[in-house]
Amino acid sequence: MKISKIGEFGLIEQVIAPEFKELVKKHVTGIGDDCSIIPISQEKAHLFTTDMLVENTHFLRNKIAAYQLGFKSLAVNLSDIAAMGGQPLASYLSIGLPKDMEVEWMEEFMRGYKDLSEDEEVPLLGGDTTSSRDAIVINVGVTGEMARANIKRRSDARPGDIVCVTGNLGDSAGGLQVILDELPEDQVSGRLLDQHLTPYPHVSEGLWLARNQGVHAMIDVSDGIGSDLQHILKASGLKGHINLEQLPMSLELQQQARIYNWNPLELAISGGEDYVLLVTIHPDQFDQTAASFRKHFNRELYPIGHLDRGEPGITYLKDQKEVRDLKEGYQHF
Ligand code: ADP
Ligand code: MG
Repeated sequence: MKISKIGEFGLIEQVIAPEFKELVKKHVTGIGDDCSIIPISQEKAHLFTTDMLVENTHFLRNKIAAYQLGFKSLAVNLSDIAAMGGQPLASYLSIGLPKDMEVEWMEEFMRGYKDLSEDEEVPLLGGDTTSSRDAIVINVGVTGEMARANIKRRSDARPGDIVCVTGNLGDSAGGLQVILDELPEDQVSGRLLDQHLTPYPHVSEGLWLARNQGVHAMIDVSDGIGSDLQHILKASGLKGHINLEQLPMSLELQQQARIYNWNPLELAISGGEDYVLLVTIHPDQFDQTAASFRKHFNRELYPIGHLDRGEPGITYLKDQKEVRDLKEGYQHF
């Protein structure tokens, strides 16, 4: 059987994860959340996450500057620590490079990696360097820690919760479209490209949200809310309702969508790589949490729908009516 038949998540759930169920100790969270969680004391837990970027799958060498790729390689991993509500502690960088790469390329890559490391005060503590025949392959791991009481698992959502996001959706997908269709670069398309090439992980937002007891489940938006919300729904055994008119989309995305005839809703739902956080909050605590979030970050916490008891799955609504046939998120294979 070809792996394309069972897909990325089928492969993880049916082939990779079951082999290790018995080896995982009580109170340890393994495969299935944004990070693994290992308790290290009564109060604290250790977090670890790792993510890979492969040339021609995740990026095109001549369409992303080395600086941007270095920045993004760390950013996508910090985003998974943010999704638990953790504090990142250190990173590890493994990289496979074709022999004919320029040292200057790697210097620029490291400059991008370092700038984000400095911003977030996360040192690089190790890794591995090897040659690769053709493709650049990058794997970053990040460790973190947090109070066990504040951990926000995908399985922590409850019926009635309001579903929110910490930023705009679809900009990154719009940026990718600009690259793939070789559209002209101007101020507007440049904003979308920036979101795609150097997404800023919501680590501070994650830490802040995790301290709020009304916040239940969190995940970062790496594959698009259509796919990422589904993970929360499956892990929590709930049903989701998303109001399409509430999805936050930048003016830049809306403008480019009009010009190039994109469906902005599809980009917002299935584009992915936005690296904002998708959060579920107790309905009685939403207003107060959103108000303090606005005060603290000078940005909105956008409500986009709610959860209910029922079969895991998402219903998309526009003017209270169900909308079908929307594309729902990226899957490898
Ligand atoms: P994320 O987008 O948050 O990085 P993924 O969707 O990539 O998460 O992965 C889902 C879960 O499966 C995560 O818990 C991840 O650690 C785990 N996982 C993915 N691939 C593997 C693998 N090859 N071996 C073990 N665990 C894996
Ligand atoms: Mg994640």
